[in-house]
Amino acid sequence: MKLYSTNLQAAEVSFETALIEGQAPDKGLYLPRSLPLFSGDDLMSLKDRSYPEVAFHVLRKVLEGEIDEPSLKEITYDAYNYDVPLEKVNENTYIMRLDRGPTASFKDFAARLMARLMQYYLKREDREITILTATSGDTGSAVAHAFHGLDNVRVIVLFPRNEVSDRQRKQMTTLQENISAIAIDGKFDDCQSMVKSAFSDEQLRHLNLSSANSINIGRLIPQSLYYIYAYCKLCDHPEEIIFSIPSGNFGNMMGCVLAKTMGLPVKKIIASVNRNDEVPSFLSSGEYHKIVPSVNCISNAMNVGHPSNLARLIAVYGGQMDEQGNINKMPDMVQLRNDIHSISVNDEETKATMREYLDRYGILIEPHGAVGIKGLADYRTNNQDNTLAVTLETAHPAKFPREVEAITGIDPDLPNSLKDVESKEEHMDFLDTDYEMFKEYLLSKLS
Ligand SMILES: *Cc1c(COP(=O)(O)O)cnc(C)c1O
Repeated sequence: MKLYSTNLQAAEVSFETALIEGQAPDKGLYLPRSLPLFSGDDLMSLKDRSYPEVAFHVLRKVLEGEIDEPSLKEITYDAYNYDVPLEKVNENTYIMRLDRGPTASFKDFAARLMARLMQYYLKREDREITILTATSGDTGSAVAHAFHGLDNVRVIVLFPRNEVSDRQRKQMTTLQENISAIAIDGKFDDCQSMVKSAFSDEQLRHLNLSSANSINIGRLIPQSLYYIYAYCKLCDHPEEIIFSIPSGNFGNMMGCVLAKTMGLPVKKIIASVNRNDEVPSFLSSGEYHKIVPSVNCISNAMNVGHPSNLARLIAVYGGQMDEQGNINKMPDMVQLRNDIHSISVNDEETKATMREYLDRYGILIEPHGAVGIKGLADYRTNNQDNTLAVTLETAHPAKFPREVEAITGIDPDLPNSLKDVESKEEHMDFLDTDYEMFKEYLLSKLS
């Protein structure tokens, strides 16, 4: 597998390099030059297989030559040791619950596989790295848990102090050992730009910094697997499917784009966003404007005003966007609009959807999942399209107990994985958004 940078100024690299480095030296994002194509027969051979079986079948082709098969199999089965329920809502609608991993968020899917792949390469070469990751809530805890206790890797998580829930924060601050957490007096976008500056800072090169947020290609490949799994479970080739994806940094949605590239018959990808509507505006107007500062919404993990994965989406459709968000070459907008429908959902609609799902179907969802459901409902109303659709629930309702209770009156049961952190002591450092201070912090902590 060869990977190129979306900024087109860096050399092509191997999967291992892209995984360990995270960002390309020209500040672009890595994308595979090509991916395997799965035939209808291939897909249908996976029909009754378990999640790790499907994942391994796909990964061994995607990562052919990059890792030996027995190691890959062990890593895949170890990473995916939890359920992936497909809950039926009505004849043509399912909810895929991606919330059964150790941190009850879909980010476990990517983080657990990526951590184990990194560990494999680092051990093989006897190297050590520090992972810096910016989080709007769930990435940080998923990444911290995925790497917790591993050798050769240290993790530093930056999160916006006032924009994560207590439970999200505790998932990051109670682990200790090789995990550190920093509360930033700012927004997610500030955390992300501090992390990005550190990566491109020559004076920090000796610290062997790496990334694990959605800019790492190692996060995207695992996020293509559950789309394939859902299709194989629910559809008969060449039947088509629609996915509705609650989106912030658009990593989850890019996973679906990769699955489609690998031959999955996806009729429409619905990228549902909250009031940070820079992507739906771009798709309708052809002009891109980031939202600075990002808007606070109850689906807080999606409060992103400039999604880093947009550069990848534009690259897949033949365009080029730099890391600042300037489009130097327009993508094929006709094809892009044909494949992807992006829709903005406000907090009132989100809450109404949560209540409606409980009243009508007895199904409890949390705000992020509700954005996906509402996006699908609007798409269906406007397009008279009753194709089978899967909408993604990206977190467990118990991760947002106050919001969920205020809106639905139900205090969600805590999954066991979340119970553990409640009683543990928290440890974190505090910084504001000043980059030089952050740099000093890294130099003193890691040297
Ligand atoms: C991160 C996150 C999202 C957004 O995913 P992206 O890949 O950034 O688009 C949605 N829901 C939840 C619960 C999340 O944690």
